[in-house]
Amino acid sequence: MNSVIAKHSQLLSTSLRGDFPILSETVHNGHPLAFLDNAASTQRPACVIDTISGVYERDYANVHRGIHTLSERSTELYERARESVRNFLNAKNVSECIFTQGTTASINTVARSWGDANLAAGDEILLTVMEHHSNLVPWQQLAERSGAVLKHIPLTDDGRLDMSSLDTLLSERTKLVAIVSVSNTLGTINPVKEIIEKAHAVGALVLVDAAQSVPHMPIDVQELDCDFLAFSGHKMCGPSGVGALYGKEALLEAMPPFLGGGSMINEVRLDSFTPAELPAKFEAGTPPIVPAIAMKAAIDYLTHIGLEKIHAHEQVLITEAYNRLQEVDGLTILGPGPSHRAGLVSFSFEKIHAHEFAQILNDSFGVAVRAGHHCTQPLHALLGITASTRASFYLYNTPEEVDRLVEGVHAVQKKFA
Ligand code: PLP
Repeated sequence: MNSVIAKHSQLLSTSLRGDFPILSETVHNGHPLAFLDNAASTQRPACVIDTISGVYERDYANVHRGIHTLSERSTELYERARESVRNFLNAKNVSECIFTQGTTASINTVARSWGDANLAAGDEILLTVMEHHSNLVPWQQLAERSGAVLKHIPLTDDGRLDMSSLDTLLSERTKLVAIVSVSNTLGTINPVKEIIEKAHAVGALVLVDAAQSVPHMPIDVQELDCDFLAFSGHKMCGPSGVGALYGKEALLEAMPPFLGGGSMINEVRLDSFTPAELPAKFEAGTPPIVPAIAMKAAIDYLTHIGLEKIHAHEQVLITEAYNRLQEVDGLTILGPGPSHRAGLVSFSFEKIHAHEFAQILNDSFGVAVRAGHHCTQPLHALLGITASTRASFYLYNTPEEVDRLVEGVHAVQKKFA
């Protein structure tokens, strides 16, 4: 078997596109949609959409508060969703899985709760220069409140983390390392396990921003031994407005609640309260009930297909896209080659602005990509650019869509060369 056929045997069947009603939409000028904006947010299969309407039609009531039938039903569905998150991450216990609004809310919860309780002036937080704003700003705010110092792992020339700097950056002053597992701009897959081992060796905790990895490759938080991990449902075929924070039980137990209100208490007196047990302690107010239940449908869908298979599929597409885009004159691809890269590619082209590039791909080719700084302004500044164009793949994308992307990029290059 030659290597192309071998590679293509890794591709998922195009028949699964039929699971996603929106993919048969036509867009500008009647072009069929090639949706390559999955790093921003993915599309949903019918089973997830049906779950949302099904819960509202048959099961909906507020959770944990009523003894009537519908409240019991929705509570059971909501807690089953938590068990599915536990199983998906291979967490030890459901109490380690907190429903949040998404990655940003999860990271802010740790910064406000663990951070405010544990950091003091002079303590260090180690980040990387490739972090999404969601994994930068909460730590900047914490540093302002506590006097803690922020440090950043730099990049190698090919857009990977410069691991040779780690030993000097880590010290007994490092209290937390917060790192992205897959960069949403460079596509780099980071050596998270190695970083966790080194961080633990100096006594630091590690938070993993897994927004771009959990949807695309298998995850096992016990094997990884991370202390906290954050992800979002809308980037993995689930609804927006829901995600999860994983935390080791002993850490979460010791942390004060962040948001106060209903549901997160055992008892409230006029001047004080006793917090609820985990996980309710971190779920103040009415939680994202239906989004959480629908996120379970998304998890079931992805696990049924298999995360290894999804990752392998994306690797075929990204290798093809990367190799062919590399041949386009004047195009600068950000980040490493395909062997260190997940299924997304960002590029800059000095002749026209990224927004204009994306507009032409949409209007003339039906290819939906993202343009801008992708919430990584410091990284773009470091690379000497203000914006890039990003194509990001998921399980339903096809080699034909890679062809259309490459064809569109060539056409733009010719027009502006
Ligand atoms: N971290 C990374 C790496 C991301 O790509 C994103 C979203 O693009 C986020 C965090 C923030 O996710 P959310 O907006 O779902 O909170």
